[in-house]
Amino acid sequence: MYIVQIASECAPIAKAGGLGDVVYGLSRELAWRGHWVEIILPKYNNLRYDLIMGLEVIYHDLWVPWGNGAVHCSVWQGYTFNRRCYFIEPHSPDNFFNRGAFYGFPDDAVRFAFFSKAALEFLLKTGRRPDVIHCHDWQTGLVPVLLFEIYKFIGLDRQRVCYTIHNFRHQGICGGNILWLTGLNRPEYYFHYDRLRDNFNPGAINMMKGGIVYSNFITTVSPQHSWEARYTGQGFGLGHTLQVHQVKFGGILNGVDYEEWNPEIDGRIAARYGSATPDAKYANKEALRDRFWLRKDYKPIVAFVGRLDPQKGVPLIKHALYYSLSQGAQFVLLGTSPEPGINADFWRLKQQFNDNPDCHLELNFDEELSHLIYAGADLFVVPSLYEPCGLTQMISLKYGTVPVVRAVGGLVNTVFDKDYADRPLHERNGFVFHQSDTRAIESALYRAIGLWYSFPDHFRALMLNGMRYDFSWNWPGHHYCQVYDLIRA
Ligand code: ADP
Repeated sequence: MYIVQIASECAPIAKAGGLGDVVYGLSRELAWRGHWVEIILPKYNNLRYDLIMGLEVIYHDLWVPWGNGAVHCSVWQGYTFNRRCYFIEPHSPDNFFNRGAFYGFPDDAVRFAFFSKAALEFLLKTGRRPDVIHCHDWQTGLVPVLLFEIYKFIGLDRQRVCYTIHNFRHQGICGGNILWLTGLNRPEYYFHYDRLRDNFNPGAINMMKGGIVYSNFITTVSPQHSWEARYTGQGFGLGHTLQVHQVKFGGILNGVDYEEWNPEIDGRIAARYGSATPDAKYANKEALRDRFWLRKDYKPIVAFVGRLDPQKGVPLIKHALYYSLSQGAQFVLLGTSPEPGINADFWRLKQQFNDNPDCHLELNFDEELSHLIYAGADLFVVPSLYEPCGLTQMISLKYGTVPVVRAVGGLVNTVFDKDYADRPLHERNGFVFHQSDTRAIESALYRAIGLWYSFPDHFRALMLNGMRYDFSWNWPGHHYCQVYDLIRA
């Protein structure tokens, strides 16, 4: 099968979040399965050019119809870790992609509408006819709209679209001029409630809604989140649209890159280990304590790694710290926040616990250190308010660090409570709580720390259960292939 991914990010050359990891990880898995995969990206000036091999212009004069005229583009080709990527470079005074950052500009909707149009124009003009076009998030929501309303009639008539939504919070809500710019025109047609009109703002176009309405299949990043998006507020206003289109909507968990996150081959930890050799994990616990000057005592280490964002349940993270210490555990945290208020709060907390031999807060982004924390800790807390998929709990499972999570989004599909899960004992792998209040997280941590102290054998069994789970790209790759087979012409 010939698959083209059209996306605004691809790790590691253009990564702002999980979207980039998925585009890269899924593409690699699909290629391993024998499919022909190509990725189309904007040619940002802040790409990691040091990681792109063989970059060269392969198409000089791509003229993309835009408003009353056309924008002249060059298309570059390069390889990132063996994945073939095309980069669209517009030569226009708008300077769409030479801004030093991927997002955050007042004309973001226009920038990515242009990119969506240019990607299709490139496929059309160069005779590329993929079986499936896979696009992602609001930035490429207009791809299926443009494909089925314009390009289908001029050459791209057998292409099918899979659309993956990683985050419902950002939807590309913009003014109607986008219709004129992209050549869709006909506002009376597109402003219909069943097409692109935003569900709550009748004067606005919603690009993500367009993606949902026009795609052949829509996925989000976990089965539980696909339910939450339809039936709770987590669809951020698109719940009804998703219900209308639910026969073509599903959830597929993201995978973890086990070449990067695997304690058996991880070069960034103190000692390698696996489910057959779990004892070596304790050398990492020692190394973590050495690194953070924690006291060497018979105590479990509870950890948190992640963005200190309200989405992650900041008050519960703080509460987990206090409660863990009160229950005789140690606590380590690695995180940063873009919000000055939250940052200041955690710096205060860091000062407060500066001399405490059982607690350490590291307030920066440090990927290397995160490996040692996953390997060295015993328990890992994820008290998110919402979590479309979540990677940290899947990584900690692989590293034998038992997760304590709130039952939301992808956490529901990956962590199964030791005492209450509706599963056989050998499939239970962590602790789950439901409410987003302090009592709930206390009860889960109480059970977890209690098990560590009182029933070490049971704790060890739980940890091994988690290590045996396979959250690699293998299953997600298989499921995406099933979706592609389903929608193929
Ligand atoms: P989200 O995409 O919402 O931030 P995920 O759980 O999907 O959350 O992914 C978070 C990823 O970012 C994990 O790999 C985690 O280890 C990493 N990460 C987050 N914050 C930090 C940090 N301060 N230092 C190192 N790695 C971090």
